[in-house]
Amino acid sequence: MKKLTEPVNTEAVSMLDDMIKRKKREDYAKRLSAYRDYIVRRYTVFEKKKDILENVGSSKIVTEEDKDAIHSSFNTSFKKRMKEKELKKVYEECEGVCPYCGNGKIEEVDHYVPKENYPEFTLYPNNLIPLCNKCNKKKGDKFVDTRNERQFINFYSDCIDDIPFLNVEIDFDPTDIKRTTEVKYTADFSKILDSRLRKIVKDHYKYLDLLCRYNEAAADEISELLSVLQGQPDREKSRVKIMADGWILGKRDSQRLKAGSNDWKYLLYEKLYAIKYADELVEYVCTNKAVRK
Ligand SMILES: [Zn+2]
Repeated sequence: MKKLTEPVNTEAVSMLDDMIKRKKREDYAKRLSAYRDYIVRRYTVFEKKKDILENVGSSKIVTEEDKDAIHSSFNTSFKKRMKEKELKKVYEECEGVCPYCGNGKIEEVDHYVPKENYPEFTLYPNNLIPLCNKCNKKKGDKFVDTRNERQFINFYSDCIDDIPFLNVEIDFDPTDIKRTTEVKYTADFSKILDSRLRKIVKDHYKYLDLLCRYNEAAADEISELLSVLQGQPDREKSRVKIMADGWILGKRDSQRLKAGSNDWKYLLYEKLYAIKYADELVEYVCTNKAVRK
């Protein structure tokens, strides 16, 4: 989980004017024009409160017709423009991986401040964060709780890069490593000293169900490694060992370069290396070769 470079917001107003000008539906164009100055003022509020978005205040745009008029501009060509221009750096930094979970493939764009309750920020670049389908579904229109406290990390403003709070444990019975390996992630949020940030990160993990999703993703990683080793036609011990070590160290090192200190994948491979899991895998693969096909 890494802080991302903030999108470019300088053309947000001219982009809005352009959208109004190009609106084909007359009633939508009228509604948008009526709110144009209000939206521009709200952009300024967003900019001022970008580190405390929970205090952005409620929206004046409440009718479904007005919301539809604005939402309709969040279309394929707008998203394409964002990807190529305002959010170009963000997409590059993410390398296709969802920043919310650090696992899923980026497929969608989240409105951090939900467009359903804050339609004025539908097209504001700083409110747009690319993410995976699973995270987008789980986040939905959530943003602040009943105490007006934020429920998700904002990757443009919150910084948790250097606070290691995620941990992973791996358990297995060496005689049957394939069936008994269990991966369990835990998070010690008390390590986050800033209480406001601690609450946000804790909720982020809870509502996106991250620990559970990491347990599953890690199990998939391990079974992939096992099947690659088992797929080797020649299961000569020293060769299988080189392959297993190379796999674990390669993944650990490439992940270390790009991910923050709470990256589930980096932690997994670091742990597999520390407990010499490769040795156990090699033992398993080479002693079981006769009984398997
Ligand atoms: Zn995700």
